[in-house]
Amino acid sequence: MTATIHEPAREIPVSHDVDVVVAGGGTAGVAAAVCAARLGLSVVMVERTAQPGGMVTHVTTWLNDFDNKGGFATEFRDHVVDTGICQWPYYNPYAVVPWFDQLLADAGVRPLYLASVVAPILTDGVLRGVIVESKSGRHAIRAKMVIDASGDGDVAARAGAASVVGRPSDGACQSVSLSHLWLNYQGGKLDNAQWKQAVRSAADAAGNDFRLEYDNGRLIPFAGTIPAYYNGTPHVTGYDPLDAESLSDLLITLRRQSMDYFDTMKGRVEGFENVFCGPFSGIPGVRETRRIVCDGCITVDQAREGVTCPDGLFKVTQAVDIHKCLPDEPPIIVERIKPYSITLGALLPRGLDNIAVAGRCIGGDHETLASYRIIADCFAMGEALAIACKGAIQAGDTLRDVTPGTVADEMQARGYE
Ligand SMILES: Cc1cc2nc3c(=O)[nH]c(=O)nc-3n(C[C@H](O)[C@H](O)[C@H](O)COP(=O)(O)OP(=O)(O)OC[C@H]3O[C@@H](n4cnc5c(N)ncnc54)[C@H](O)[C@@H]3O)c2cc1C
Repeated sequence: MTATIHEPAREIPVSHDVDVVVAGGGTAGVAAAVCAARLGLSVVMVERTAQPGGMVTHVTTWLNDFDNKGGFATEFRDHVVDTGICQWPYYNPYAVVPWFDQLLADAGVRPLYLASVVAPILTDGVLRGVIVESKSGRHAIRAKMVIDASGDGDVAARAGAASVVGRPSDGACQSVSLSHLWLNYQGGKLDNAQWKQAVRSAADAAGNDFRLEYDNGRLIPFAGTIPAYYNGTPHVTGYDPLDAESLSDLLITLRRQSMDYFDTMKGRVEGFENVFCGPFSGIPGVRETRRIVCDGCITVDQAREGVTCPDGLFKVTQAVDIHKCLPDEPPIIVERIKPYSITLGALLPRGLDNIAVAGRCIGGDHETLASYRIIADCFAMGEALAIACKGAIQAGDTLRDVTPGTVADEMQARGYE
């Protein structure tokens, strides 16, 4: 984009004046909003899609890294298990949406859907709220604290925080996926070898050369709960999810990839005789974009060595799972790690006050992102920030003044190891 126009300054209404605004009502955002409101803070959660949950309700179905978690993470796990919307470790993401609605309402969070955070309100490096574009137009939300849970670190980046994208060698990011529900799948579970064989046979029968971009998975009937199959195999590389045109092309490519697969399988493999198309996920499964440069940085050496600290907020035990960044690379590289701590410093964007990041955009490196980005860990980040916001607001301090040990103690009291 080279040409520019001048957008005149204008007065806009202040729609809300709250303790905490959460930008992005996804994985980390829902946890942050619910936990902050339960602590008595007034909270607005701004979400650009029509529903809460982000990746949890749009893209993924698999529970990992919950064993050493407490608080909101355990509440989520217990809910999906107890209500029968999960056959461990797969849950039904659609059924989580109304539950999140209920949790947010019970806690007293004001959600704003189909609303995007478009700019920070910033004075001398201190966040004072955010500017939102919604069906009501352009309006401001004044807040004592801003939690950027947008996945991409949109607010922190627009406030001037430095960020890093992709791996150090060439900036390439892990592949992006899409989920697509295929209804009326009548077959059973296929292990990796059986599934690849089924796809090969179907492609032969169809006379096409269809091949899976990601062939490391299995075929699992949808959360084991209804006759359907949740296809998460589309994987594409080489697009930029932070560029509007590239992001749009990416979505079209993902949907085409899923339909090529669907057209190949339908009627040619046992169980796929009468499948028909259900919904595509409303947002793409983006694994990696910006990592905001924060006071602290979680590195792969810390994960390999299992570095923990007494004022760590919680521990991550998930392996590093790096999905391919370029087409001809192995589909996934998995490296086991030792439990390591997530620190409060890794959530505080360097040079800015009263803003924190939660979710996959925190301060870390390319490899470790592929470990701590897991749902349970993103929930824990949101919960820890809710506690930190409460402490800062109560003491009249900035987020950076909060003693990490006090947040760590409260996380432990809530069952996080
Ligand atoms: C394909 C795929 C499969 C995965 N599989 C698993 C798995 O099996 N198990 C597991 O534990 N983890 C899995 N993960 C990882 C995990 O789901 C994500 O890393 C994690 O959920 C990210 O959480 P988040 O809060 O950072 O982002 P998200 O959950 O993406 O939330 C960000 C939210 O912010 C909103 N938003 C963005 N920008 C704005 C804005 N400017 N204004 C307002 N709203 C905005 C988005 O709409 C979204 O709702 C997977 C990830 C992907 C991509």
